[in-house]
Amino acid sequence: MDKAEKEYPVLISGAGPGGVLAAITLAKAGVQVLLVDKAKFPRDKICGDALSGKVVEVFKKTDPEILQRLKLQPSQVGSWGVDFYAPNRNKLHVPFRLDYSVQSDAPGYISPRLDFDNFLIGELKRYPLVEFLEDHEVTSTTLTSKGYQIKFKGREEVVVAKILIAADGAHSTIARKIGAIKVEKQHYCGGLRAYYQGVSGLDKDNFIELHFLKNVLPGYFWIFPLPNGMANVGIGMRSDKISQKKIDLKLVLKQIIEEDPVIRERFKSATIIGEVKGYGLPLGSKKRKISGERMMLVGDAASLIDPFTGEGIGNAMVSGMLAGKQAVHALQVQEYSAKAFQAYDEEVYGRLWSELRLSKVMQEMVNYPWLFDLVVNKANRNEELRTTISCMFEDLDMRSKLRSPRFYFNLLFSDDPKVTS
Ligand SMILES: Cc1cc2nc3c(=O)[nH]c(=O)nc-3n(C[C@H](O)[C@H](O)[C@H](O)COP(=O)(O)OP(=O)(O)OC[C@H]3O[C@@H](n4cnc5c(N)ncnc54)[C@H](O)[C@@H]3O)c2cc1C
Repeated sequence: MDKAEKEYPVLISGAGPGGVLAAITLAKAGVQVLLVDKAKFPRDKICGDALSGKVVEVFKKTDPEILQRLKLQPSQVGSWGVDFYAPNRNKLHVPFRLDYSVQSDAPGYISPRLDFDNFLIGELKRYPLVEFLEDHEVTSTTLTSKGYQIKFKGREEVVVAKILIAADGAHSTIARKIGAIKVEKQHYCGGLRAYYQGVSGLDKDNFIELHFLKNVLPGYFWIFPLPNGMANVGIGMRSDKISQKKIDLKLVLKQIIEEDPVIRERFKSATIIGEVKGYGLPLGSKKRKISGERMMLVGDAASLIDPFTGEGIGNAMVSGMLAGKQAVHALQVQEYSAKAFQAYDEEVYGRLWSELRLSKVMQEMVNYPWLFDLVVNKANRNEELRTTISCMFEDLDMRSKLRSPRFYFNLLFSDDPKVTS
């Protein structure tokens, strides 16, 4: 054996939300794990910073106390709903929970990733079985009979892990090299993010704002409130549309903020903090093979971002938990074949596919601005439809109504659509 070679049951590459959840799941099951990241924390991750109900759900399952500790962080705010702005500018105000009280735990949160991811890294201290190494960029992964032999940029040390979990994000080298996942523009999105201070008209209960402006379709412009008068502002659009229409996203963002008659008023006294930055969003609008012999892909490395909302943190955490569980099982039965790890693909898509498929349908709907306008107009006139939309955030059965032609028939041809029938 190489002098500097160390053995671990599991190595996780990438300490974003997906990697951290995989590490905690393994440690809780008594498995020693090496978690590495190329960055030094705290590190930024270009993101909208919105933590959906799914993140809250994962925390509750992992350790309900995490949520209480997150709430103590000055960098976060609770978010109680979403304001959709249809292409015709009509607004639909949708609370995530009906009859809510801001005294209770919020259904969602918003926190800059710089702070949120660093908070998660802090949580690792509670799990002595997790060894965390920052400034360790995985550059080489070689499958041997004992497991994956891993090497790091500019370092002598070599690690052999029985199982490799790749949670190394949207630009994952492991997903490209071992997983054979490639960028397909119709299943990929380009996104830009900027921080602003002093945007006016933010919701008092920190509703996030999604603006489906005509010049951004089929993407959207967002404003997400943060503590101390800050806001995360950005824009996202499917990559094939960006190419087809030869869109310069940075220019479109600038035009919205400076020239859009409604938006520019809200940015009159606002100042940008830092620069506009961009990053990719690998969408989960297509099923992929996300495991192989001794290997699983997690989060963005597995392309699991919601194709309608652009949310990926929750799905990264869910897949991280499932990869952790699958690894525990594989170590117990000592079965590391590609066939055995196929169970992970089934678990992930069993949990996420119906949501992802539905979001794909909703993404298509945005191609028909008149339909979007119609849903918003009718919902503003019809309490039952508004309630249905609110419930869709917590109840997947409700959300599946959006796939039913009857929903649209009632919407189009009835003034009082029986949307819950
Ligand atoms: C503009 C934009 C807006 C978004 N808005 C939202 C939002 O509001 N809400 C939401 O839920 N999602 C949002 N997303 C998606 C979300 O950011 C991702 O889905 C989420 O970060 C995925 O988590 P992850 O753990 O899979 O990967 P990441 O968070 O990307 O973490 C990957 C980690 O791997 C490390 N790494 C990479 N390569 C290596 C290597 N070779 N060796 C070691 N370490 C490595 C990186 O340093 C990083 O720490 C947005 C994305 C973008 C681009």
